Amino acid sequence: MRPRLGPGVPVPEAVLRELRAACPDTTTEAEIRAEASRDWWPLGLHWALAGEVAGLAGAVCRPANATQVAAVVRICAAARLPLTPIGGRSGVCGASVPRHGGVALDLTGLAGLVDVREDSLLIEVLPGTFGPDLEAALAGRGLTLGHWPQSMDLSTVGGWLACRGAGQYSTRYGKIEDMVVGLEVVLADGQVVHTGGAPRAATGPDLTQLFVGSEGTLGVITRAWLRVHPTPAAERRATFAFGSWNEGVDACRRILRRGATPAVLRLYDEAESQRSHGTQGDVAVLLVLDEGDPLLVDATMAVVAEVCAGAAPAADDLVARWLEHRNDVSALATLTEKGLVVDTLEVAVPWDRVAGVYRDTVAALTAVPTALLATAHLSHSYPDGACLYFTFAANPPGDQVEATYIALWDAGTRAVLRAGGNLSHHHGIGMNRDRFVGEALGPARSVLARVKAALDPTGILNPGKLGLPSAFEGPPWP
Ligand SMILES: Cc1cc2nc3c(=O)[nH]c(=O)nc-3n(C[C@H](O)[C@H](O)[C@H](O)COP(=O)(O)OP(=O)(O)OC[C@H]3O[C@@H](n4cnc5c(N)ncnc54)[C@H](O)[C@@H]3O)c2cc1C
Repeated sequence: MRPRLGPGVPVPEAVLRELRAACPDTTTEAEIRAEASRDWWPLGLHWALAGEVAGLAGAVCRPANATQVAAVVRICAAARLPLTPIGGRSGVCGASVPRHGGVALDLTGLAGLVDVREDSLLIEVLPGTFGPDLEAALAGRGLTLGHWPQSMDLSTVGGWLACRGAGQYSTRYGKIEDMVVGLEVVLADGQVVHTGGAPRAATGPDLTQLFVGSEGTLGVITRAWLRVHPTPAAERRATFAFGSWNEGVDACRRILRRGATPAVLRLYDEAESQRSHGTQGDVAVLLVLDEGDPLLVDATMAVVAEVCAGAAPAADDLVARWLEHRNDVSALATLTEKGLVVDTLEVAVPWDRVAGVYRDTVAALTAVPTALLATAHLSHSYPDGACLYFTFAANPPGDQVEATYIALWDAGTRAVLRAGGNLSHHHGIGMNRDRFVGEALGPARSVLARVKAALDPTGILNPGKLGLPSAFEGPPWP
């Protein structure tokens, strides 16, 4: 694989020797470096087909414990080498791509459920633990975390935390930031700190949340304490067909307003209802599933039924079919190989702006030359708003793939921001959204930049991401 954005910072032989002494599982093997330098960023998939990655790691270190992580961090800080933490590399924004070369720090060697405190419904888990392994270990104890991202099989606890991830059952269980109680973090100078740990605190700002969503730019997460739940004793499902998307949105809003939080509340616009659920394209399908204590589930579903009384029932088996196919994204590789640009854009929007953000964003995306479609569903709901998840596609000429990709993201993101949505609900920033952070945060971006400067003065941690100034030179992207 060739590094598309320049050769990046090489790892000197002397530093490599130090890294090997500190972390025996350190390699410079070309195939492992190339693999460690890729994630699921759709534009990166196009580059990979052309034999390129954005940046190429000079070495990959796979530590076995936090002590080794701290040692690697210290060596990189002393040598001023870029250091990019990587988990499952399922990110879709290029967040784990070592844009400026240097060292890729593979955290998947720190894996496993360490402790369960059943009475407190608390677990201690290592960051490289993949989703299915965690849920399997918890199921044996009659517990669940309730975090079920579509990338369950591909992603790790550390990646969920570093990106502020959301699972498909989030309306009941919350996002990962609601589940985390405390963290162990290796700072950029190699110091190990612990944050949080109590059910709630009034000891200044929440330092745990400082690292949640920091995408590896402020510290390396080496351990986490998370809230879990008893394995649900009951599950109920329902489906509805609304005469229009806006009617369905209003129903979701009113369900949350009444305090009901069904685990799954997914509303598809007319086009997605047709594409995914076989309707005629004239209704907006709502899928509902709740699980937990039977009394609470019954009450929740009774609220849902009352609020949705004006909608027609949709096919009974739609929830079952969604559950069966919900994590199948095999089509993406095929479409990418055909040269199509396909991606998704997920944003959080207050209820009073949902109609405007939906309308303007679909219009902006479909106005981009060669655009084929722009559709959306509502995938996570809160009392004050929801996550809109847009899917878009275009069929540009071969030499216009990257330009079209950039044009779609520019058009879609700016339409969202203008109409009152935010920059990201759960996929994060990475490289792809780096250019929009200033517009999205305004002057508050300087707070983030000053925190970065204080915690990572040499700028070694995942440089070139999160809209932060980079300590390393390289061609700009885009
Ligand atoms: C098919 C598909 C479906 C997806 N569905 C969802 C979904 O439903 N919900 C959702 O939230 N996301 C989803 N994603 C996006 C992605 O899976 C998430 O962002 C996930 O949380 C990334 O985890 P990871 O372990 O793969 O992290 P990586 O991609 O390896 O890394 C992501 C970021 O986290 C940082 N990082 C990783 N581990 C650590 C650590 N221990 N300490 C500090 N920083 C770290 C990296 O530096 C990088 O910045 C999906 C992706 C794909 C490909």
